[in-house]
Amino acid sequence: MRATDAFPAHGVAQRPLPRRSLRRWSVRHARALARLYAGFARALRAADPLFARIGYARLERPVAAVERAVKTTLFDCRMCGQCVLSATGLACPMNCPKGLRNGPCGGVRDDGHCEVHPDMPCVWVEAHAGAARMGTLMRLSEAQPPIDHRRAGASSWLQAARADAAP
Ligand code: SF4
Repeated sequence: MRATDAFPAHGVAQRPLPRRSLRRWSVRHARALARLYAGFARALRAADPLFARIGYARLERPVAAVERAVKTTLFDCRMCGQCVLSATGLACPMNCPKGLRNGPCGGVRDDGHCEVHPDMPCVWVEAHAGAARMGTLMRLSEAQPPIDHRRAGASSWLQAARADAAP
């Protein structure tokens, strides 16, 4: 049986059909956005002692709310809690209706569109375009671990800030 929005292949929140407008803009501007994020990530890491003093648990809810608003707008983010955008050319793999985080399925159409949503470019075709702009094509072949659904809804920004976070 095909994974559809009615029968998602993963437990992360699904919407009927991704909006795609800003998401595709973000992939087209992946290089500039990646540079911006690199600066933001440095600021996050520098803020680790402050965040630790405030308490990461206390920060989780407000930071996740801001992260959700920003990343939903820019990437149609589903808040999986284990962001891999930097490895996927800023194309969020959770927008794949099959939830594939390690490359495309065998059903990509000849025009590069998704077999489930024929009017939607395959997330992984977009990932290739975004990674080419960022100069990170090699990262597309990095194996992503299985998604940990316990982290759904959690902030990836706070995870990036933590000095004691698992790599
Ligand atoms: S990989 Fe996860 S956290 Fe990152 S944009 Fe996609 S759903 Fe959001």
